[in-house]
Amino acid sequence: MNYTDRIDGFQICDPSYVPGFEPKCTTPVYDIVKWYTHEPLEVYDMLTREKKTVTESCYVVARLVYDTHEPCFDFESIGLRWLEAHPTQAIIDAITEFAEKKADEIDSQTLMEKQSWEVYADYCVCPFCRTQSSAATKFCPSCGRRVFRRY
Ligand SMILES: [Zn+2]
Repeated sequence: MNYTDRIDGFQICDPSYVPGFEPKCTTPVYDIVKWYTHEPLEVYDMLTREKKTVTESCYVVARLVYDTHEPCFDFESIGLRWLEAHPTQAIIDAITEFAEKKADEIDSQTLMEKQSWEVYADYCVCPFCRTQSSAATKFCPSCGRRVFRRY
């Protein structure tokens, strides 16, 4: 999935992996790629396995890696590629905006998790007051706070 249009030849997208070699890790990672044009080149499409001719390709110059301790994204250049790719202010602004927005989304998801009932085999636990309840009700019967149900 591509998250931005091409901005001065750069683009933010999901990391692409050779099918079957996707990592198991669930930490959010986004690739920052740089596009370049070249002589027509015959390649095999990784997904369809069909031969096709391409005149442009991209390579990863940097990554945004979510830091669960902070919580925010760390920017990691792939070697010196980021510097060598001559980033412009427009792509720097786009990356900054993207990283802040994504970090906010992840933050609110985590918050949502914390406000959900902890569900066990035959009881639930309120995340606020730790009181056990027989059902995941809308409001905690003990502290009265709004608790979400996880489905
Ligand atoms: Zn409670």
